[in-house]
Parts: sequence; C-alpha cells; structure tokens
Amino acid sequence: MVQIDMKSKIIPLLIGTHMLATACCTTIYEKDEVKRHGGMRNVSVKVAYDEEYAHKAKNRAHIAIVEKASKSLEEQVGIRLVIKGESYWDSDDCQKSMYQARKELESEVGHESENGKCEILIGFTGQGYEREEKDETGKTRTFTILGIAEGIGTGNSILVWGDYEFPGRVTIHELGHLLGAEHTAELSVMREEPACEKLDEKNKEIILKNKFRWFYE
Ligand SMILES: [Zn+2]
Repeated sequence: MVQIDMKSKIIPLLIGTHMLATACCTTIYEKDEVKRHGGMRNVSVKVAYDEEYAHKAKNRAHIAIVEKASKSLEEQVGIRLVIKGESYWDSDDCQKSMYQARKELESEVGHESENGKCEILIGFTGQGYEREEKDETGKTRTFTILGIAEGIGTGNSILVWGDYEFPGRVTIHELGHLLGAEHTAELSVMREEPACEKLDEKNKEIILKNKFRWFYE
C-alpha cells in the first residue's frame, strides 16, 4: 500500500482519457439493445473492490456510493446505473500507477457477470496513488490521484480511490468522462477536484448528447 506523506503538498488530481471521450462527443449510438425508458437510460455496471478497500466493502460502502451516484445522475441527466454484477480483486501492492491499476482491474475482474456482460466496470481501491508533476513555476509537487477513466475501445472502466472524502463525486466525474465530459473551472463535479455532485451546463449538454451511446461492441 502506498503511504501518503501528509507533510508534502498533496493536490488531488483526476485523470480521464479526454481525447477518446471528446472523439465521441457528437456521436449518438443507436443500438437496438439500448433500453430507452421514457428518456431514461439504464447503464449496466459491475462493481468491484480490492483488498485495501475490503474493510469498507464489508459495510457495502462501494454499493452505496454507486447507488447515490446513480440517483444524482438520474436527477441531472436521466442516467441510471443498474448494478448487474459484483466482484473482488487482489490488487498488486507494487502498483506504481493508477493507469496500471485500472488495467489490472480490467484484466482480473472484467465486464462479464452472472447476469451477462456489463457496460461499465467500476472499481474501488483503498490503495492511494500519487504522481509527481511540475507545476507552473517548475516546482515538483506530489499529486494524489482520485480516479481514472478509460473509454471507448480501451476498457469502459473507471477506478476510484475509495478513501477520498468524496468518492461519490469522483465516481460521477469519471463516468462523466466516459460520456464525453471535460474538466472545467466552474463549480462542477467536472472540476479537476470535484467541487460538488452537480454538472455544469456545458458538460450536462455533452452528456445528454452521448447518453444513449453504447459502451462496447
Ligand atoms: Zn477528470
């Protein structure tokens, strides 16, 4: 498990594959399988957690986060997350990056469930990931990565640092990336460090355009 040095400057950071997400901004996928319920979009999800998160998962904390995120998305953009599968994985303690960790989640857990293939895989990790980066002044600072998302063709999965104060915001933020949303400086869940659960108007519009896209072939 990566220890966080609280003395060093820790700035939360979220990463998304924005280029991929942006590429699908104007495409609305109209597959027959997409369920339309009076404008409501049901997205099937598989939820998993790693061993560092197990102490919280015992109390179903990860499920509660997804359900709350679903409620928020439903209210804002009419997207409902339907949990079709649950799983667990033993994450590699030597993982140096959250990119690798997400890939591991994908290969070890995958999208298949007892109830069929899920569109999105959501993993919760109790393992904190950091990244060193130079800021505008050239000073090296340590960032804590809160979550990561990878979209079309590369996973349709997100990984959330479950020990962050607001994992629900991170879940909505990363799902937002999968639907084309980008970072904004506005008071929004899409701020680099999510300011709240609410989407700003521009990102809401983008998500509504992509709402019926299909997540896998
Ligand atoms: Zn982001």
